[in-house]
Amino acid sequence: MKQSSGFFPTLREAPKEAEAKSHVLMLRAGLIRQLAAGLYIYLPLGWRALRNVEAIVREEMDAAGAIEVLMPSLQPDLLWKQSGRWDVMGPEMMRLQDRNEREFVLGPTHEEVITSLVASEIRSYRDLPKNLYQIQTKFRDEIRPRFGVVRAREFIMKDGYSFDVDDDGAGVSYQAMYDAYARLFHRCGLTAMPVEADTGVMGGSRSHEFMVPAEIGESEIVSCGACDYRANRELTESSAPESVSSANALPLEEVHTPNQRTIEEVAAFLKVEPASMIKTLIFTDGEKPFVVLMRGDCAVNEIKVAKAVGKPVELASPETIQQVTGAPVGFAGPVGLTGVDVWADLSIKSIGVGVTGANKADYHLKNVAIDRDFTVDRWADLRLAEPGDVCPKCGKGTLSMTLGIEVGHVFVLGTKYSTALNAVYTDEKGERRPMVMGCYGIGVSRTLAAVVEENSDDKGIVWPVTVAPYHVHLLNLSPKSEEVTKASAELYDGLRAAGFSVLLDDRDERPGVKFNDADLLGLPYRVIVGEKGLKSGQIEFVQRKSLEKEPIAPADVIARVKGLYAEELSRFTP
Ligand SMILES: [Zn+2]
Repeated sequence: MKQSSGFFPTLREAPKEAEAKSHVLMLRAGLIRQLAAGLYIYLPLGWRALRNVEAIVREEMDAAGAIEVLMPSLQPDLLWKQSGRWDVMGPEMMRLQDRNEREFVLGPTHEEVITSLVASEIRSYRDLPKNLYQIQTKFRDEIRPRFGVVRAREFIMKDGYSFDVDDDGAGVSYQAMYDAYARLFHRCGLTAMPVEADTGVMGGSRSHEFMVPAEIGESEIVSCGACDYRANRELTESSAPESVSSANALPLEEVHTPNQRTIEEVAAFLKVEPASMIKTLIFTDGEKPFVVLMRGDCAVNEIKVAKAVGKPVELASPETIQQVTGAPVGFAGPVGLTGVDVWADLSIKSIGVGVTGANKADYHLKNVAIDRDFTVDRWADLRLAEPGDVCPKCGKGTLSMTLGIEVGHVFVLGTKYSTALNAVYTDEKGERRPMVMGCYGIGVSRTLAAVVEENSDDKGIVWPVTVAPYHVHLLNLSPKSEEVTKASAELYDGLRAAGFSVLLDDRDERPGVKFNDADLLGLPYRVIVGEKGLKSGQIEFVQRKSLEKEPIAPADVIARVKGLYAEELSRFTP
């Protein structure tokens, strides 16, 4: 492709609203343009790179035995009402009506559609397992679209769904997708870590997210320095600290703490460590309030609380807190509380004798001894993991924390959707059973952003050969010179005939402009043809990774590109 006749607008500076490195580079290099908040146009370079990602995804899905289909984005409401998710999905799901006032959804995902298809087409165990996937546009009415195509309102996803006769079969399908994901992200030039994840609103029993470490990541990933343990922070187990005895506690003492409400305020006021304070949180499970006790320096993990209680939970309102404790917010404590269940995080055991609220405005209690002054109904791990915690898997290493972008997820769904939408099969004995499902997503457009996020330097993008929109950037530095233009044309034809895609910069621009754009666009191999070099029989070859220039004879260019390409491709192929 000739740059002069193509459509490759670049920007010297990105618009101010672009915060993420990938967003800035994708705008500056002319990969994308914003149409409205969270809606993006793919320009030719972005579209070519996106299709390369898609091709890798498609190859690995096909190789793993998945079968490609294409479903409509527009889905009737009935399926969502049958699955029970019409009410669960909330305002993030785009809903609309047709001219007859029938309701539709612009699909954020396709469990309902695929399950209803399989329910009507597959009847027998002989037709299972099946794994169907598509690459298609999805919609999500994000409250705050951010970081360009990382969190957009319209985006491209690969979504796949497996149907098996039983849990064992579903496990095999899951593992095949897990392995394919690891391969395909590696092929895209990404360091994608599989991380144990919550099954959340999707339901189901087993789940991993594939996370790419990035500053703009919105998920916190915990990993152990001594073993291979990696998990979403919200799911990380915390081990119990050593118990400290409260046997020698002094008598309970009420202290005046006017307007001191937070742990930090009270700790500073009473000159005690936050770790010796008992934080008393009032939650509600939708029916009744209950109490969660947490060591003052630890944070509560609501997901763990919900799992322990077995219901969705939320922090209680100030009115409820007043009702339960008889005091305004900031003075709650477990001593003397009646009529509510008291849950305690294991961290409380290390306090021994502590400080807590007195259930009375402007008062706290000192010398509070567990067992002597209050009782705990249920002990559980309810706190949020912190960097430096001991690893729950090996018990030796300490945990560190990184931020990550989720590029893929795999779930074992179980029979939630097959039961709701009647996807049943007849087994060998003639009995009807619900199919066991798995679902597997990849944010394809988000993966492209992650590739740019991970593969760039201060000058621009550094494309991996597998995703690069073109392999070679051929710079004709003197388009007005007949010899240079002829030599460039010969190299262009030769490289293309050898199977490489080439972008030829034949624009009437200064060399400096061409070099800067080439750095920004980041194509893996650069060939520079100038008048002076050509006369001496030596032109220049540059690898974008190192930006080191090497002189090369025009006749050697194709062999050099071939050699490097083969070497790099082997690195990306596990
Ligand atoms: Zn470990």
